[in-house]
Amino acid sequence: MIDKSKFMQAGPHEETSEGLEISMDRCGVKPALRPAILRLSEFHTYPAPGVLIGAFMVDYALELLGVTPDKKLYGVCETPKCLPDALQVLAHCTTGNNRLNVVPIGKFAITLNASSEEETTQAVRVYVNLEKLKQYPVIDTWYANSPAYDKHTMKGILQDEIFRAGRTILSFEQVRVTVKRKKKWASVTCPCCGETVPDYLIEGDHCGACGSMKYYEKI
Ligand SMILES: [Zn+2]
Repeated sequence: MIDKSKFMQAGPHEETSEGLEISMDRCGVKPALRPAILRLSEFHTYPAPGVLIGAFMVDYALELLGVTPDKKLYGVCETPKCLPDALQVLAHCTTGNNRLNVVPIGKFAITLNASSEEETTQAVRVYVNLEKLKQYPVIDTWYANSPAYDKHTMKGILQDEIFRAGRTILSFEQVRVTVKRKKKWASVTCPCCGETVPDYLIEGDHCGACGSMKYYEKI
């Protein structure tokens, strides 16, 4: 069950789960996808335009691959913004299960593939098609990060346009991707901090935290 109180307090009407349900109903979102969109909005903490488009992208990719989310799937996301959450919630490709790869190319696109014993395998790449986007002026303006898009007055219209558009603003292509393999590894102790890391993550003779990935100072 969706906890409807989660994103009810803050923000205008369209950001509540009731508001979302009304908007999805009004705009003809297919009923089968609606619970996933509510789950995704809750997971992301609010129904960001990018995650809503992402829901349609992952739904489309699943259908094109002819798979359901209970299968072991691998996803690549070409932006760290919003879209990874759609792959996590709808396709169960997560950071933690190592089946999500976020490549910060800066494109609103995903690829999805099933597990395979081969070196490479067929995947489907779904992306936002700029030509198709022209039919939806508010999405087009928002997507281009144009100053003409005013978040305060246009957020609700944008959401409706996204729901109306659904997958009609998307295109896909068949692609080939390298299959991810689990690495064999041994534990190595860092002489600098005395903590252990897998051998393939050691940087010369010290761990990442004592090297290029240092992100904290001891206090
Ligand atoms: Zn260290």
